[in-house]
Amino acid sequence: MKESHAVVSARGARRWQQGHPWIFRSDVVRPPAAPPGAVPVRDQQGRALGWALWSPASEISLRRIDADPEATIDAAWWHERLRRAFERRLPLADVADAYRLVHGEGDGLPSLVVDRFDRWLVVQFLSAGVESFREEIIAALHALSGAEGALARNDASVRAREGLERAVEPLWGDVPHEVAVSEHGVRFLAAPHTGQKTGAFLDQRENRVLAGSVARGRALDVFSYHGSFALHLARRADTVIAVDSSAQAIARAAENAVLNDLRNITLVEADAFEFLRAREQARDRYETIVLDPPAFAKNKASLEGAVRGYKEINLRAMRLLAPGGLLYTASCSYHLTKPRFLEMLQEAAADSGRRMVLRAFTGQPLDHPEVLTVPETGYLKGALLEAD
Ligand code: SAH
Repeated sequence: MKESHAVVSARGARRWQQGHPWIFRSDVVRPPAAPPGAVPVRDQQGRALGWALWSPASEISLRRIDADPEATIDAAWWHERLRRAFERRLPLADVADAYRLVHGEGDGLPSLVVDRFDRWLVVQFLSAGVESFREEIIAALHALSGAEGALARNDASVRAREGLERAVEPLWGDVPHEVAVSEHGVRFLAAPHTGQKTGAFLDQRENRVLAGSVARGRALDVFSYHGSFALHLARRADTVIAVDSSAQAIARAAENAVLNDLRNITLVEADAFEFLRAREQARDRYETIVLDPPAFAKNKASLEGAVRGYKEINLRAMRLLAPGGLLYTASCSYHLTKPRFLEMLQEAAADSGRRMVLRAFTGQPLDHPEVLTVPETGYLKGALLEAD
């Protein structure tokens, strides 16, 4: 008779003991005879190891959700797990109405992402296992959030690797195409249906406050998206130039400047590499610069090329700093580790001929928990640097 539990190798079991929730296909000794869903997992000696989400088509076959073999993975289980994730964000509700409510593995809810934009939610079901609990998750989100509407941004490419369709679908209510949200006194329009990620980059919220708090003089926000850093910089700096290659993002940045009654922001639709090169040739100088590029390293193989890209923009930004100028520089490439990021900055500083002081090293905010034993939950790092 076929059994509906999974049997995993000693290597797979060890991964769990060391605090990582994923078991790869190569460590599944006997797959469960079950559709995607929650399955009990045992080792080859028959010991019960807990419950996992089962994704038959994926390289990541099993994602642990509960270490207790006696657990029941039902609607009440999802409600309780989501309640804990919501509770962790309570302090944020005082300062912002846009933040991440569920950060997948970081919240013990593998492959589930939920972002709040004011009275609306954007959800991503990123594995076949989690997709099978869609109804339970929607019911719990509805009850816990009281949100007026929710949208599934199930157009993420990882869904293809799970054998899932890619689409943007309403879950309940009507989610507007533009939602005005506020973060630490700055307002901006997020675009839940069509924007990058789930409509805005929520992970930089506190880093934007940091950069804003030290901004002065002439400021540059490079890779600005809809101007999120620029809006914070413009409250203290004399002038801000925001640069992005996306016409849509720049158009929304213009609306965001109006929304905040800020008239000192100039928007430029351009390639950031070309822009920085041209500013350097023109011998421009800036007191404040922000670099927040997209993930140049999409995988391990592209890391070295990506590092060259990061180094180039950082080197140029360092050269563009006025005496005493500040650079806030970030990377959201998971494959670029914290030590490699710092090493890249050291190399750029050495080539720039400037003496650069590390004033702060930053990471992810409260709503994007980085679990030490699950490296994939951590990807964002940043540095605030001061030139001589
Ligand atoms: N700083 C933003 C997030 C930036 S995400 C915030 O805090 O909200 C990276 C941005 O870089 C995206 O908006 C993308 O459109 C832009 N981008 C990607 N490649 C680019 C390039 N070569 N030149 C300029 N912008 C680019």
